[in-house]
Order: sequence, then C-alpha cells, then structure tokens
Amino acid sequence: MYRITIAKGKEKQLLKHHPWVFSGAIRSIEGSEGADWAEIRSEDDRFIAYGWYDEKSHVTLHLLSWDREERLSDEFVSRLVKEAIFRRREFFSLGDTTAFRLIHGEADFIPGVAADCYGSEVRIIISSRFAAHFLDVIIATIDRYLSPSLIQVSTDPFYGPADGLSDKVTYYRGGEEVTLGEDEGNVQFVESGLYFESAHGKGQKSGFYADQRNNRNIVERYAKDRTVLDVCSYTGAFTLHALRGGAKSVDAVDSSESALRHLLFQVHLNEDKGTIPAGSRERVTIKSADAFDYIREIEEDKYDLIILDPPKLARTKSKLENAQKAYKDLNRVAMTKIRDGGIIATFSCSGAMTRELFQLTLAWAATDANVEIQILETLSAGSDHPVRLSFPESEYLKGFVLRVLRKK
Ligand code: SAH
Repeated sequence: MYRITIAKGKEKQLLKHHPWVFSGAIRSIEGSEGADWAEIRSEDDRFIAYGWYDEKSHVTLHLLSWDREERLSDEFVSRLVKEAIFRRREFFSLGDTTAFRLIHGEADFIPGVAADCYGSEVRIIISSRFAAHFLDVIIATIDRYLSPSLIQVSTDPFYGPADGLSDKVTYYRGGEEVTLGEDEGNVQFVESGLYFESAHGKGQKSGFYADQRNNRNIVERYAKDRTVLDVCSYTGAFTLHALRGGAKSVDAVDSSESALRHLLFQVHLNEDKGTIPAGSRERVTIKSADAFDYIREIEEDKYDLIILDPPKLARTKSKLENAQKAYKDLNRVAMTKIRDGGIIATFSCSGAMTRELFQLTLAWAATDANVEIQILETLSAGSDHPVRLSFPESEYLKGFVLRVLRKK
C-alpha cells in the first residue's frame, strides 16, 4: 500500500470527498510500486482517505473511502458494485422499462465504470485503469446478483486511450470470456412501453441514451398535433415518443446514416407492436446531415416542436468557449425558425457547461433571435444517473422545455 502525503493547502477538496487527485496536489509518495491501494494523509499526518494510485492514469489518484476502518481488497470493490446494483432495486420491477443505468461511475463511487442494463444484458464502458484492473471483480459481482445473459465490455473512446486502454470489445457469459456467434442478433429492450433494439459492438455510448428517459416522456406531452423536428435524433427515441404523443409528422436529422436507418426500423417495430399510432411510418422522414448546416436551410414557421439534443460539444473546460458558441448558434437558429408559440426542447450533455451557463447561452440566443422565451420545464438525467454532490462533474445532462414567443 502506498502512503501518500497531500501538499499543504491542497487537501480542502479531498476533505469534502471530491474523488480526484492530480499529481500537482501530491507532496510525497512512498511504500509501493505500480498501481496499488493508497492511504492518503495531510502534511500534518492526519488521515484523509483511502484511494487507488496509478501513475499511468489521467487521474493518478482516485479516492474511494473516507472511512479509516475500511479494508481495501477485491471484496471492497465488489461491495461498491453490489451497493450500486441494490440502489437501483426499483428499476428491476418497472415492467415498461428494461433499459437503465446500473453503475454511474464516480457518482456511484466506482471510478471510470459506466454500466447499463438492456433487458437481460449488461453493457459496461470503462474509462479508467482502475476499472480495467478490477474488471474481473466487477463482472463477477454483476453475474452473482443479476445473472445477465451477456455482459459486453467496451472502452470509452475519449478517456480510454488517455489511460492506455485497448479499444477491443469483449463479451462475457457466466464469468467466462466468449466470442459472439454470427446469429446473435440485437438486444431488445423497452423504455416507457416503447420497443427498442441495439446491436452488439461499439455503437454510440453503450448503444442507447437511457439518461433522456424522463425527458422523452415530458416532450411526448407537448407533441400532440405538432409538426416536429428531431435534431440529432440518433435512433429515434424522441421521435417515437413524439409519434406516440400524436405528432402530425416528425423529421429526424442526424449525421449518422446508420442511426437513421435504425430509427426507421424502430418506427416500423413499434407500429407493428401497436405502441404508436397506425400510419406513423408515413409521418416520419429522415435526413442525414450536419445539424448546424441543416437547421439554417429549414423553412421558417414550418415546425412547432423542435428537439435539440446535440452530442457533447465541450468535453473539457478548454473547449467550453467554442462549444458555447455552437450551442448558442443552434438554439438561436431554432428560435428564429420555429412558429410563434412553438416549443423547443433543448439539451446540453457537456459536463463543463453548467446549467447557469447553458441558461445564459439560451438568453443570448433569444436576444439575437429577437424572441421572448418562457421556460416551461427544467430537465436533467433520471435517478439512475445520480448527481453526487461532492462530485459536481456528475451533473452533465441539462435541458429546458422552452416556449418561443415572437416579439410583436
Ligand atoms: N437524441 C438522441 C441522442 C442524441 S446523441 C436520443 O434520444 O437517443 C447525439 C447525436 O448527434 C448522435 O446520434 C450523433 O450521431 C449526432 N451528431 C453528432 N454530430 C452531429 C452533427 N454535427 N450533426 C448532426 N448530428 C450529429
């Protein structure tokens, strides 16, 4: 075990249970080699926390327990996984929803591990060397409590390489690594009574954006008789909700052609199952395009519900300024194009963009678009994606339902 001393004045955040420590905050390290558990102490030799130290990781020291009596072992990691699963207890019996987050990284005290349930399968995305080191323990614990039919493990495409993780996708059944057969089709799941499928392999995220579940149900309530534009639709989860809510038509735009094809498949699937009105497939069009260019081309006053769900535009604080311009631009154009009194459901999933800053950005967009805006709803991720107060970075998804009023 390492014994790590924190430089004077750098311990404040750590005492407030922020889990990340970068090398600049460390005064001295002794007692071990390679990646190992660590006891973290202040300069005046007071116990602060236990953690995991790995100099090859982009976060060199992850704090994991502030309990001095904690025994650090595989068993400890297994308990963290078990506790995250048991905190989702109610999600296992929802019936109309079988896709949800099981482990939400640091917000569930497990650094660099995102795990989602998709029906009978679990998909894990790892983004830290800690997660890679304890992968066997994590898989064994999920197997013990959930016995999924398959566990898929992939690496976060952004943070994985920074931690030197391989981008291989691996599969496990009953704890053993397996090769997927040719005939193993998509995994099937339901969300709020709508049917979805997701292919195995890399895909986007772990295949689906379960964090928007509650927000889709809210947007559905605004869809009746509206002409809808679903910007950055991916595989059409908002589109399906808008159709179920009685939309006149939905135009879906995304840069990914394959996501749009899958969207059409899912519209057919749901119409066949009777979960969306008959004739829905005739009401949907898809357009593979860059959202920022495309929205400039759309007809004015055509749409009265626009959904804006762009990808993470600011991955880090340094990218924030450009990202803010992009968010402003997208929202400003939507505000100028939408019909008077129309509804915009707008989102930012950039951790670096705070809710206050996002709201301010929307205010600037409204001024430039010469419209008045009423905020009708304030949106965030569901309770399976908790925000840990001592780790504000876990609040990444922010959204608003806006009513756009043209100035007379
Ligand atoms: N609304 C979706 C999730 C959107 S994720 C849902 O509810 O499931 C963001 C989407 O934006 C991805 O599908 C990605 O393919 C798409 N995208 C990324 N950059 C884009 C761009 N410049 N123009 C259009 N789509 C883009």
